[in-house]
Amino acid sequence: MASESTSPSDFIRALVARDIETGKHAGRVVTRFPPEPNGYLHIGHAKSICLNFGIAEEHPGGICHLRFDDTNPSKENVEYVQSIQDDVRWLGFDWKDRMFYASDYFEALYRYAVGLIEKGLAYVDSLSPDEIRAYRGTLTEPGKDSPFRSRSPEENLDLFTRMRAGEFPDGAQVLRAKIDMSSPNINLRDPILYRIRHVAHHRTGSAWCIYPTYDYAHPLSDAIEGITHSICTLEFEDHRPLYDWVLEQVVGPDHPQQIEFARLNLSHTVMSKRKLLELVEHKHVNGWDDPRLPTLKGLRRRGYTPQAIRAFCEHIGVAKRDAVVEMALLEHFIREDLNRRTPRVMAVLRPLRVVLENYPEDRTEELEAVNNPEDAAMGNRHVPFSRVLYIEHDDFRENPPKKFFRLSPGQEVRLRYAYIIKCVGVVKDERTGEVVELRCTYDPTTRSGAQEGRKVKGTVHWVSASHAIPAEVRLYDSLLRDDQTKEDDQRDWQASLNPKSLERLTSCLVEPSLAGASPGGRYQFERQGYFCVDPDSAAGPLVFNRTVPLRDSWAKIQKAQGDH
Ligand code: ATP
Ligand code: MG
Repeated sequence: MASESTSPSDFIRALVARDIETGKHAGRVVTRFPPEPNGYLHIGHAKSICLNFGIAEEHPGGICHLRFDDTNPSKENVEYVQSIQDDVRWLGFDWKDRMFYASDYFEALYRYAVGLIEKGLAYVDSLSPDEIRAYRGTLTEPGKDSPFRSRSPEENLDLFTRMRAGEFPDGAQVLRAKIDMSSPNINLRDPILYRIRHVAHHRTGSAWCIYPTYDYAHPLSDAIEGITHSICTLEFEDHRPLYDWVLEQVVGPDHPQQIEFARLNLSHTVMSKRKLLELVEHKHVNGWDDPRLPTLKGLRRRGYTPQAIRAFCEHIGVAKRDAVVEMALLEHFIREDLNRRTPRVMAVLRPLRVVLENYPEDRTEELEAVNNPEDAAMGNRHVPFSRVLYIEHDDFRENPPKKFFRLSPGQEVRLRYAYIIKCVGVVKDERTGEVVELRCTYDPTTRSGAQEGRKVKGTVHWVSASHAIPAEVRLYDSLLRDDQTKEDDQRDWQASLNPKSLERLTSCLVEPSLAGASPGGRYQFERQGYFCVDPDSAAGPLVFNRTVPLRDSWAKIQKAQGDH
């Protein structure tokens, strides 16, 4: 008997499993990811991608389409179409030969509209946009029938044909479904199916001057493609009766099913396309791939791996209720992934010069360093050691507080993979009083790996002055200062941008093994965090982005919550 029964992990998967069992849709599973090509994908889209492609992969013969929902010509363009494909592939999903455009269905959608008109289920309305709004009613008051609602199918057909032929200006006519102006669901109060827009489309050029609305085009695109489960976010829940109405009129009772789930909201960032576009256009960030953005391009440049993003999406799961996920949780997942895969290296971000007075001037030692304590297969490397070194400014205090186990006058510390050193003097800038150099001695009997003999409490990282490579390091902090969860209510949301979201350190020094590190390369800088080589490095000195610091604030949050 089978012993491993895996039960579906969420309500959508449960529903799909049940449909397969009952033979609905003939047991097929066909999903789709339907981005509108009017912006770059973000981590919220990743949730939808993982869900749609994930469910398809979980069932033999299951497929997931990539469909560009390009029914709104004014904001869409090919740059977005290309970047969306890149991003879905980067996440590791494959639509095979199933890439479609809603605009490919314009002719079919038009034919279906003609069919609705002929059946008396759609009419051309000549009210102005303002009048249409006024006639629609409110949540508490029913709408009113348009005086044009009783036009005959012949008259409607004639007008619709002339709309398509370009006889009318924008806004002069619309095609509406004839449903129920007094429905408690406003979406059913004769929704608009077609608008006149004399705008060229990035794929169909000037072939069309009428464009279908989302509510009309989406269900029919699903039906044309044979989608079985049309998964979308909760804001479309109230549109479902319309989705079903359109399909029942056009294709009959066997049609795709719309299923809604809660979108991903992340703390400390923005995810609406409008806001992301504003950030890019107003140059609050440096383009769509700015590592501070939650766009997939931004996360990728910052050093996120597709595996970490997928693990995060799997962990948060899908639910029916809106919630905000802490950014710290996403950071937790990238840290876990990078901990396993990245080599350790030493890099000093804010260098303080150290001279070992008793170490010979002309000597260099090659010390053995471990590449990844989590993975012995990653091996060892050699790190050069010499008389003049740099350590992190923070690792020295002239007047150390209690429990400061790093370097201070008269105290000892271990240099990672090297020796114990003692601070015997401090050189200061005469004018500013700032500490500019430490005079130290080393204890030759304490080399790491040999019998280390004595132990000291602190270990610090370092680089050898004559061997280190200069680098720039970009540190990132959250995009928004506070938790901006109600981002859409926030009028002046730009006021909450964190002015310290980017800090550039330009006099960093990294160990020589990083020479020639190529863009995209990921490392752990010992004691500091995970870093990734930025593409800007191609032009000159190495540039690193800090993906995430080592400290795991998610672990802390969990602890504070009592380890549930
Ligand atoms: P807009 O900002 O214009 O509302 P959108 O973010 O909904 O756009 P689409 O291109 O329509 O962008 O999204 C494609 C798919 O991704 C849709 O099915 C949408 O429901 C889903 N999606 C978008 N944002 C999120 C999110 N934050 N969480 C989960 N799914 C999302
Ligand atoms: Mg949308």
